[in-house]
Amino acid sequence: MVEDLLQVSDITQYFYCPRKVYFMKTLGINIKAKPKMDMGKEEHDKEHRRVKERKTVYGFSEEDVAQVIHNLAVEDISLGLYGMVDTTIILKSGEVVPVDVKYSDAENVRLNWKKQLTAYALLLDSWFKTTVTRGFVYFPSKHKQILIDIPDEAKAILKQDVRKIKELIDSEKMPNVSKGKQCSYCEMKKFCT
Ligand code: SF4
Repeated sequence: MVEDLLQVSDITQYFYCPRKVYFMKTLGINIKAKPKMDMGKEEHDKEHRRVKERKTVYGFSEEDVAQVIHNLAVEDISLGLYGMVDTTIILKSGEVVPVDVKYSDAENVRLNWKKQLTAYALLLDSWFKTTVTRGFVYFPSKHKQILIDIPDEAKAILKQDVRKIKELIDSEKMPNVSKGKQCSYCEMKKFCT
């Protein structure tokens, strides 16, 4: 059952702050979309249209690309994980490459974004019976993409992360965390004393 599975976004939130997962999964508090997130969705749809208009697909020549799939929903029961990949590029060589689009001014790729791409890689491995070794984070506002290598070790650690996050949810305990800069952008700050 899908409700027994962890969502990839739960992993992203956990690596933003484990306590966010407690608020969302244990107490059932939903994140209300911020205007920026709404704007992100509109931009997201536009971005999918723009991919068709470009001569290259996230740096790959059109000639090398067999298929581009947007919003691919994937799950793996044995991993206990599901999610929706922004863009999945299938190259003619057979390589499968996930792309995650970020509407952010960040200069560098954050740890939680790397974890998110690694989770997509694991899901795509089993979905396409392949081995994903790299993915991209793409920043539309800067027309910039950053390559992320996804080695086997990162996938093995991610599987442990999934188990750890499930244990946290099952424990129903609020985790101890250090408050910091991330709290000012956190949708849970009014609940988090
Ligand atoms: S307010 Fe800070 S400590 Fe609380 S959940 Fe958000 S990021 Fe974590």
